[in-house]
Amino acid sequence: MTDFVRDFETGSMEEKDLLGGKGANLAEMTRLGIPVPPGFTLTTDACRHYLATGSVPDGLWDEVATHVAALEARTGRRLGDPVDPLLVSVRSGAKFSMPGMMETVLDIGLGDRSVDGLAAQIGDPRFAWDSYRRLVQMYGKTVLGLDGERFEDALDAAKAAKGVTADVDLDADDLRALVATYTAVVAEDSGAPFPQDPGEQLRGAVLAVFRSWNSDRAVLYRRRERIPADLGTAVNVQAMVFGNRGATSGSGVAFTRDPATGAPGVYGDYLQDAQGEDVVAGIRNTLTLADLERLDRPSYDELLAIMARLEGHYRDMCDIEFTIEQGRLWMLQTRVGKRTAAAAFRIAVDLVDEGVISEEEALLRVTGGQLAQLMFPHFDPTGARSLLATGMSASPGAAVGAAVFDSDTAVRMAAEGTPVILVRRETTPDDLHGMVAAAGILTSRGGKTSHAAVVARGMGRTCVCGAETLEVDTRAGLFTTHDGTVVRQGEVLSIDGSTGEVFLGEVSVRPSPVVRYFEGSASVDEGGPVVAAVDRLMSVADKHRRMQVRANADTAEDAARARRFGAEGIGLCRTEHMFLGTRRELVERLILAEGPADRQAVLDELLPLQRSDFVEIFEAMDGLPVTVRLLDPPLHEFLPDFTELSVKVAVAEATGAPHDTDSLLLLAVHRLHEENPMLGLRGVRLGIAIPGLFEMQSQAVLEAAALVNERGGHARPEIMVPLVGAVEELRAIRTEIDDAADRARRKHSVPLEHLVGTMIELPRAALTAGAIAEAADFFSFGTNDLTQTTWGFSRDDVESSFFSRYMEAGILGVSPFETIDPQGVGRLVRIGTDEGRAAKPGLKVGVCGEHGGDPESVRYFEERGLDYVSCSPFRVPVARLEAGRAVVGG
Ligand code: PEP
Ligand code: MG
Repeated sequence: MTDFVRDFETGSMEEKDLLGGKGANLAEMTRLGIPVPPGFTLTTDACRHYLATGSVPDGLWDEVATHVAALEARTGRRLGDPVDPLLVSVRSGAKFSMPGMMETVLDIGLGDRSVDGLAAQIGDPRFAWDSYRRLVQMYGKTVLGLDGERFEDALDAAKAAKGVTADVDLDADDLRALVATYTAVVAEDSGAPFPQDPGEQLRGAVLAVFRSWNSDRAVLYRRRERIPADLGTAVNVQAMVFGNRGATSGSGVAFTRDPATGAPGVYGDYLQDAQGEDVVAGIRNTLTLADLERLDRPSYDELLAIMARLEGHYRDMCDIEFTIEQGRLWMLQTRVGKRTAAAAFRIAVDLVDEGVISEEEALLRVTGGQLAQLMFPHFDPTGARSLLATGMSASPGAAVGAAVFDSDTAVRMAAEGTPVILVRRETTPDDLHGMVAAAGILTSRGGKTSHAAVVARGMGRTCVCGAETLEVDTRAGLFTTHDGTVVRQGEVLSIDGSTGEVFLGEVSVRPSPVVRYFEGSASVDEGGPVVAAVDRLMSVADKHRRMQVRANADTAEDAARARRFGAEGIGLCRTEHMFLGTRRELVERLILAEGPADRQAVLDELLPLQRSDFVEIFEAMDGLPVTVRLLDPPLHEFLPDFTELSVKVAVAEATGAPHDTDSLLLLAVHRLHEENPMLGLRGVRLGIAIPGLFEMQSQAVLEAAALVNERGGHARPEIMVPLVGAVEELRAIRTEIDDAADRARRKHSVPLEHLVGTMIELPRAALTAGAIAEAADFFSFGTNDLTQTTWGFSRDDVESSFFSRYMEAGILGVSPFETIDPQGVGRLVRIGTDEGRAAKPGLKVGVCGEHGGDPESVRYFEERGLDYVSCSPFRVPVARLEAGRAVVGG
């Protein structure tokens, strides 16, 4: 005999692969002696065989028949019996819960004869005929694949004939007539009568459940939840019990703790004289478990005892479904219950305190994603909303403010005390001041690694990007939605960076107590039990963590915040924003400089400004390493827009206004124009093409460090060169940096350690890491650019253009800009790390792309043996937690 069918009495909760989650848990409860209606499970092996070959394994139906016979013997009822029929439910149950995604067929066993038996047993002919009607309809649709509309039309016709509108107004006779119509539909459309043989019904239902593994919605759900496509589902066949047999019957769902808050104490809903489906469908107001205690004390006591036992056994919060049939309690399902992020933290820590699990296990029960959810303010879900558009969830949080369409206005209005949402088609480095001033940022173009998204995440600013249905007209100061609604400057918007939703008007916001705690503005005690739980699990994570966590921060303010959030240094200080604002004019002069002397004069002006930038940052990070990256972006980003400048010059020429400088600038803009700026004059190439630029920056960094040390501080500068592809590039710049360090030491006569490293963000750098390591003290993987250059995907465009199509087609499960692509980009990280360390043992290796704060990627970097991850300040706690979990989880 093959073994594709397993009785509930022979399985256990360890066998989820084979029996699915539902089947394994039913088996476990049966094994524990908890009252479960008897039944059996067809294994996932059987499903996989069927899906692969189009037919069931040999002997499967014989096996099923044997188990049916055993079930009949155990229950004392027979399928199809005209007097006291056994009915069974046929339900899917995959290893991972896929709620509502696959099929269920109830009341298998009903037919023209057994329907009367059921009516007599339950004492409710209407219920019996309604069950039969539902069976024919469900069977016709899901098993035979008939058009569901045919049944709906017949139901509507029956109601119309009787002059009623609700299903419940049809009585037993009406439903009996409807069954006749339904069976006629089946015969007509399928060419065969509705099967009266319960065995045939059962086989049909099993196959329908198998097939539903590959239904469109199931496929889509698996893709989104990243559930492997080849697991298959098990099928559970179980004797039905009835909660609708009068006042001593009922059905309910319950949790062993509150799934919303995690508070201890049972929690649940009960519906008297009702089937389980009625509870979920919400057709009547449910009662609480306390009401059940009043109505049926013995069942209530038994239920609570079972729930306590299940929680102890599973060592976690469980949810259950139960039915009471004429005073007899039956458990229909249990599983480790789904919960909110807040509940996850609280329950994990409470279970430690109750001596049920260890601290390490508690750490594995929460995720970085859940911590991130707790850190963002969110909209009150009960608040009024009017949805205008949905874009990409670029930087989580909830922001409310007046719409403004340019950065200067954003700054002005914010200074006047009006919170603003900066709305742009896309942002550029020029918008930084507006982004800093705004409560939130909304763009109609660009993906999750667009400028707006990266900068917003770095600042912890809420951002929705790529809301493509919005037509943004910055000149007119308005945007238009796809249905023609016009929103003008000053009108209030609410944007949800966690869902990508954009609302008109104000939606009320709740602040995050977890952030107040991390920032030190609220104590653990003030934060309540969830904050206390976060605090506990953060220290467990820190205790076990191997990788360091640093922050990407460009200002002293961000650095200080990152430090409060637990950052152990700065892994990426981008220097580009230091060249904007009032310093832009200096950059323009640098670009227009006519010879070495001219250029040096500008660099001499920039030097003290840069030095003071770095002094502030070193002071904020006193004693901790600070990685400063030399200038990276294409130079034209510092120059005016080509079209706007051309118009300005043309107008000036026409009116005779002075325009010498603008004309020169226009020439420079023209000269620096590149078709592919991200592959052009940027990164280390700037340092080589513009003599003195990197030298000036290095001198500023090292003199700032020396100054701080002179005053008794401890600056630990690490200078990083971007976009290196060849060791020769790094060597050339390294010499300048080391010389600058020597000069700084001589000038200040203080001890000054410095490191020189490189970003690895081009495939060539990873592939020649052995050679590059000879000239580097450390590597930092710039996984944003490395993803861009490995895939050939523009990081600014693709997420909002064709990625959704790629996801639908199953080509991508997740954006590689969000979570590291292990086979491609990850492989380069491995090669770069291993070959770098082979050439230089002990080479320090980190990552500073956006992936440094992505939970799944952090785990990957732990496995690769990296020394640190660096991410935006707001993601530092998430990275700390995940780095700890990665070690404990192995
Ligand atoms: C990167 O490319 O991953 C990186 C950190 O640099 P940037 O995002 O500034 O290009
Ligand atoms: Mg980069």
